[in-house]
Amino acid sequence: MPGNVSDRPDVVLIGAGIMSATFGTMLKELDPSLSVTMFEVRHDCAEESSNGWNNAGTGHAANCEVNYTPQRPDGSVDISKALEVNTEFDISRQLWAHLVTKGAIPDPRAFLHPCPHMSFVWGDENVAFLKKRFEEMSAHHCYHGMEYSEDQSKIGEWAPLIIEGRDPGQKVAATRMITGTDVDYGALTHLLVGQLERQNGFAVHYEREVTALDREEDGRWRVSVEDTGTGATDIVSARFVFVGAGGGALPLLQKSGIPEGKGYGGFPVSGIWLRCDVDAVSQRHHVKVYGKAGSGSPPMSVPHLDARIIDGKQSLLFGPYAGFSSKFLRHGSFTDLFTSLTHDNIIPMLDVARDNVDLSKYLIGEVMQSSSHQFATLKSFFPKAVRRDWREAVAGQRVQTIKSHETTGWFKHKAGTLQFGTEIVAAGDNSLCALLGASPGASTAAFIAVEVLEKCFGDRLADGWGSRLREIIPTYGIDLKQDAEACRRTRADTAPVLEVENV
Ligand SMILES: Cc1cc2nc3c(=O)[nH]c(=O)nc-3n(C[C@H](O)[C@H](O)[C@H](O)COP(=O)(O)OP(=O)(O)OC[C@H]3O[C@@H](n4cnc5c(N)ncnc54)[C@H](O)[C@@H]3O)c2cc1C
Repeated sequence: MPGNVSDRPDVVLIGAGIMSATFGTMLKELDPSLSVTMFEVRHDCAEESSNGWNNAGTGHAANCEVNYTPQRPDGSVDISKALEVNTEFDISRQLWAHLVTKGAIPDPRAFLHPCPHMSFVWGDENVAFLKKRFEEMSAHHCYHGMEYSEDQSKIGEWAPLIIEGRDPGQKVAATRMITGTDVDYGALTHLLVGQLERQNGFAVHYEREVTALDREEDGRWRVSVEDTGTGATDIVSARFVFVGAGGGALPLLQKSGIPEGKGYGGFPVSGIWLRCDVDAVSQRHHVKVYGKAGSGSPPMSVPHLDARIIDGKQSLLFGPYAGFSSKFLRHGSFTDLFTSLTHDNIIPMLDVARDNVDLSKYLIGEVMQSSSHQFATLKSFFPKAVRRDWREAVAGQRVQTIKSHETTGWFKHKAGTLQFGTEIVAAGDNSLCALLGASPGASTAAFIAVEVLEKCFGDRLADGWGSRLREIIPTYGIDLKQDAEACRRTRADTAPVLEVENV
């Protein structure tokens, strides 16, 4: 193999997106003597979903995404999911602060900027919901500092573009957390891979596609890797394989043949943004504004108007509008969906299609939307938007995971459920682990990496890695939802290092 690592590394990371970069970083922090090899089919890292322009760059702390706070039938609002995501983001903050403090990432501004997070709604019913949501959230220490207003002039101070040109009589409401962030996950992936490359025992190989995963007799994994330029195949033998291949993870999981991967299916959802690079507009919106999703829409489709800071320049993104493409990756193949169908997942997938008519209707509606319809949706957020300032941009591809399960009752059969979070699928002997799904995604990569460590390296965590992990993530093992003082302390500690607001 090319590079400075043998063809028998301890660990192979498949894919050079934020997930593999974060997990690889964590492993090398815990044990610098590990040999780790990363393979990426593209010519560079962060070319798929982790690329800055392919996602919304929200540092998901569940401040503004109303889909994490469903209303119960009695009118109260359930904030438990939001609290989970909120405190998962604290794990990312601690990892990033650790890397900045030790100099592995020289400047936090290279990937992260303070950017308030707002939820914004209109209409009596939505305003009543947001008020209730605010009452529940602001009473919890995790949401200390959350602000609420129904006053158009106040909301206009927070985000002028969403108020100018709006009917002054329209009932509106907004919440704001000034501690929110905009994160360029593409830049972060480059920084993480860059600092890994400076370490002994790590190599990344681009334009190398992993084409097969087979078991060796001693339990190691035989990883077949094709050079996309020459077509030549190399073989690497690894003790542990991490499939952080984004949309490419499901086909690789299927190729591994592990029984734990059976029955999973995936449905691709593509996305379109409206993007504005006109400084006179983008400089007036330094905030992320999330609305309320339409009926039947998947959580990842909540419309939002985002300030983005990429390569030092501020732009605006609005969307995403869901679309359909049978590719699992933006640079994938149109046959991806069809070749992923197996006798284990086809019934669960049909079952999900039958049971989620609202979702199907929503997706069809989105695909059928003309660009003037799309622009009209933007105008409901930003009434004075001008068509010529905006252009369409293709977003990253997501693969909605479908999991099969056996029904109970007299007629037992396979059924399917949609999985909206990240699914960690590990081999029974913990020698391989794949990540499926994409929500909430990049923001919680560090939390997901910790979960993979617990699942697959539990013995090492019990034997030395645990104390090292607590140096990197000081709140490891503490439930920040319960421990208000630990929560306050970690935010106060990480905010100045990451140069973000603290309240
Ligand atoms: C429209 C949209 C908006 C989003 N907004 C947000 C947001 O605001 N905040 C947030 O936190 N998350 C967001 N996400 C989710 C987030 O982008 C993803 O969860 C995250 O980037 C996934 O990282 P990854 O490393 O798993 O995948 P990727 O970044 O897709 O990386 C996987 C890599 O594996 C490579 N690969 C695949 N197959 C192979 C193979 N066989 N051999 C070698 N290499 C292979 C691919 O080329 C790719 O580079 C959004 C996603 C989308 C699509």
